[in-house]
Amino acid sequence: MYYPEPISKLIDSFTKLPGIGPKTAVRLAFFVLNMKEDDVLDFAKALVSAKRELTHCTNCGHITDQDPCSICQDTQRDEALVCVVQDPKDVIAMEKMKEFNGRYHVLHGAISPMDGIGPEDINVPSLINRLKDESIKELILATNPNIEGEATAMYISRLVKPSGLKITRIAHGLPMGGDLEYADEVTLSKALEGRREL
Ligand SMILES: [Zn+2]
Repeated sequence: MYYPEPISKLIDSFTKLPGIGPKTAVRLAFFVLNMKEDDVLDFAKALVSAKRELTHCTNCGHITDQDPCSICQDTQRDEALVCVVQDPKDVIAMEKMKEFNGRYHVLHGAISPMDGIGPEDINVPSLINRLKDESIKELILATNPNIEGEATAMYISRLVKPSGLKITRIAHGLPMGGDLEYADEVTLSKALEGRREL
């Protein structure tokens, strides 16, 4: 099926988004055509300003519109605690939980030799640098519970341990509603390792 160029461009743009297949892209493109012009303009502006106005905090790597970010600037937070995560979305998830009052370090990825991603390719050097200056007492490694996340936690732990800093790893259990037989072995072994007495 052939579309006029403006709509085929719009369909192409939607196809570039994660989780959007060709059919959904067509549906979204036609949805946009039926939207009010003001709403379409607001949507386009939101896309551009999210891209232009957001930067990465030079201290922790989180996405922010001010540098350092509001979390790094917040003096009410415990500067002794730093939670290391892979993605800015993980910071948002932790913040939603409202239980953590320390600071973060966002790696923007994980070590993955298979994909040629080493420690220098993610925010590990900036973390090591940060450990020199700040009064950090504990590093909480909250990388993802998969092979890359575990490898990253292990690497950072080995690197930092000689400094005498306390290093902890969040406990990973099986997801709620999950089925034991469908759990991958890493999850399962972590669940076993983190077992507690009932
Ligand atoms: Zn920050």
